[in-house]
Amino acid sequence: MHEISLVSSIWKTLDATLSESELNALKLIRLKVGALANVEPILLDSAFQAITKNTRFDGVELRCTLIPATAHCESCKDIFPVNNYRFICPTCDQPTSDVRSGEEFLIENVEFSTEGEELNSNHKPNKSCAPIPNQ
Ligand SMILES: [Zn+2]
Repeated sequence: MHEISLVSSIWKTLDATLSESELNALKLIRLKVGALANVEPILLDSAFQAITKNTRFDGVELRCTLIPATAHCESCKDIFPVNNYRFICPTCDQPTSDVRSGEEFLIENVEFSTEGEELNSNHKPNKSCAPIPNQ
C-alpha cells in the first residue's frame, strides 16, 4: 500500500525535525495534499491510524488540506484550474505541462499538547518509540 510508505516518510521527517519532548507532546499533524499528488486522504488516514495504533502516537490526529491543481498557459499567460488531469487552457485551448500547484505533499505544520506535564523533557515514554512497522 502506497500510503503506508508515505506515512513512514512523514514520521521520518518529524523524527528528524522535532525534539523528543515535542514528539511526546504531538497532538495534530497538518498536511498539504495536492490534487495531483496521487494521495487519497482517506487511505492516508487509515494507514496513519494503523501505524500509530498502540504506539505513543496513538491518538495523534492527521489532517489534510487539499490543494487544487492549477497550471500556467504559455500562450496567454493565464493560470487556470486543472480538472480531471486536463491540462488544456480554457481560454486558448493550448495544452501545457507547466503545473503551478496541486503536486504538493508536505507537512504544513504540527500542533502540540499544551499540558505542561506532557511537555516535560524528562517524561519517559512507556510505549514503543518506533511507529513505523518493521516487518
Ligand atoms: Zn491560454
